[in-house]
Amino acid sequence: MAHTSTSSIKLVDSRDLLEMLRQHPLSVPFNLALYSEEQGRGGLLAAMHTVCAPLSDEPRCSAECCRAWETGISQAMLTNQPVIQSCAQGFICFIVPLPESSDLPDCLLGGGVFEQSETARRKQERENHHQGNPLVLESGNTPQRLSLSEAESMADEISRSLPRLLDQQLHSLSLTRTTKRLEAVQNLTRDLADCTESEHAVDIVSEALVVLFNLPKVLIVLQQPGLYMTVHSTLGLDPESFQLDQKYLAAHFENTTGYPEILTGGELPKFFPGLETQTAHLFPLKESNSYLGAIVILDVNLHSRDQALIELLVNRLASRLESLKTAEGRHLERQFSTRMVAMISELSLVDNRRDLYKQILEMSAELLTATSGSLMLLHETEGTLKIEAAKGMSSSLANTMSVAYGEGIAGQVAKSGFPMLVNDIERDTRVATKNRPRFKTKSFISLPLEANERLIGVLNLADKEHGINFTEADLNLIQTFTGHAVLMIDRAATLEKAGKFEQLAITDPLTGLYNRRFFEDRLQEEFSRGERQQQTFCIILADLDNFKIYNDLCGHLAGDNALRKTAEILRRSAREMDVVTRYGGEEFCLILPGTGKKESVFVGERFRRAIEAESFPGENHLPLGRLTTSIGIATFPADGVTVNELIHAADLALYSAKQSGRNRLVLYEAKMEGQTLLSHQD
Ligand code: GH3
Ligand code: MG
Ligand code: MG
Repeated sequence: MAHTSTSSIKLVDSRDLLEMLRQHPLSVPFNLALYSEEQGRGGLLAAMHTVCAPLSDEPRCSAECCRAWETGISQAMLTNQPVIQSCAQGFICFIVPLPESSDLPDCLLGGGVFEQSETARRKQERENHHQGNPLVLESGNTPQRLSLSEAESMADEISRSLPRLLDQQLHSLSLTRTTKRLEAVQNLTRDLADCTESEHAVDIVSEALVVLFNLPKVLIVLQQPGLYMTVHSTLGLDPESFQLDQKYLAAHFENTTGYPEILTGGELPKFFPGLETQTAHLFPLKESNSYLGAIVILDVNLHSRDQALIELLVNRLASRLESLKTAEGRHLERQFSTRMVAMISELSLVDNRRDLYKQILEMSAELLTATSGSLMLLHETEGTLKIEAAKGMSSSLANTMSVAYGEGIAGQVAKSGFPMLVNDIERDTRVATKNRPRFKTKSFISLPLEANERLIGVLNLADKEHGINFTEADLNLIQTFTGHAVLMIDRAATLEKAGKFEQLAITDPLTGLYNRRFFEDRLQEEFSRGERQQQTFCIILADLDNFKIYNDLCGHLAGDNALRKTAEILRRSAREMDVVTRYGGEEFCLILPGTGKKESVFVGERFRRAIEAESFPGENHLPLGRLTTSIGIATFPADGVTVNELIHAADLALYSAKQSGRNRLVLYEAKMEGQTLLSHQD
């Protein structure tokens, strides 16, 4: 993580400061430590340990010692004067308050020097006796002996020289610190360049601000898609305690240079109503004229060097956010186009209009995360738009709603042919209407649906998820999608017509009877049913006699008329349940479901006689003096158990009828198989 390399860097490195103070000639006899009140009891014990521990194997700091130090520190801080005291074991210690600065700890603690006096010596003896073992001093670490007054004047002298000392030395200290921070900022810049998510980039910078610059309160405001700005994160602040006036901030950005600025107590509540704070540094996140947000640092007096460093960091963040925004946008775009392609192919599977309208609306809503909407189609004759699919409202309500062309929002969109993207229905001058209570938000999209430059309807989408506004990007996306979707609407219309086409595809145009393809499908079904239900059925194959001659004698048109007439007679001869088809040129085939041989002979004979009785123009020139038909009949399952077998059997019977003089009906018989072979061999 980014902060690991920077976490050791403090405002003033206390080790540097302590080292510098140790160089002071007067402080040489003392053990020194630094202490800040904010470190609390733990910090004090650590400092006491530093000051007293080198004197003994086991520090003897008691609760009493601790209290004495605390009292001394309070006094020193209060009076801003050094405090000297001697402890129960006869050691002298001092507390020197440091000049007030946020950069510095509160006090310098010194100790580890024996008090040189008779009372102190007796005190030490008593203490040693009381503790049961004499104070053992570490070898080579013999504490110096000073009188209390000597120690006092030394502490005073240290205290007096501190401001000058700090001023001289701190300059170089802060230079080191600045160099370290600059180094850290450079590392962070690299981290920023590596990160692939905006969220992560913001985290890196906010962590750095807290750790590297030790800032107590930081507020990060970021632009959200479809919104102005929102508070993204609050460090050291209760997010519930204040709000963000997006509009004020947006207006401010419009009239500002884009450089960091200092906001004062009077101004701050205008940006952040409820925020109780006196000063703030506002660093805009600005990249090529667009504001991506702001970093607001509260309640610190930033050194100009730190301001410059923070500005550097904020600018780096802004440019990273901008490039990530573009990349994320591109990624989103890719995701959307993949989803859109999937949606369109799903749409192509929908086989009825109602579902198609519903799906188009659902998919549009999904693409824009809209929670309500409607798809309206124009009924040209009535001049109204009617809701064909609705989301977020009851369908019975939707069914009753219609809008006149040119009226209301959808009506206007239909008439103008231009889409409408509205952020605030109540404020947009194009609409300026009171938001209806069924809508949760004031932003919506309404766009015309056009197929072949002809208006077919209007798509309305409202109530985007999370209460945010629709964007220009949303509009572009939905226009692309509906561009494809309207083609599907057109296709559905064709599909519906195709119902008729399909009818045409299975009928013969000359006679209006079913064609051979249909016959074969139907026959297959009959086989399945016959097998399943152990049911018999017959096929009748009829072929007009000498039709070629009829055609030649009377002409093709007369031939066609004769075929039409034949079809009509067949239809009349057949029963309701029979399937009558034109099998080929002048061949017809009937399927007689659930019919046995006897009955089929009845149907077939009726047909044969009807043709014989019917008068056809010019038929008297035919060899038989009239137009007649020959018929072959085969029965399932006796004569065949597959489609081909049965047709073959009927064909043989028909052949037999022709062979035996025409104008007759012949039932298939097994012996015909051999005869045919013979006749073929002839
Ligand atoms: P038969 O059946 O008794 O053996 O003799 P045929 O004259 O029917 O002989 P064939 O089956 O060889 O000839 C069938 C004729 O039917 C050929 C063709 O001129 C005629 N034909 C077939 N389809 C049509 C059609 O759609 N319209 C007209 N006008 N004639 C057709
Ligand atoms: Mg024929
Ligand atoms: Mg014929």
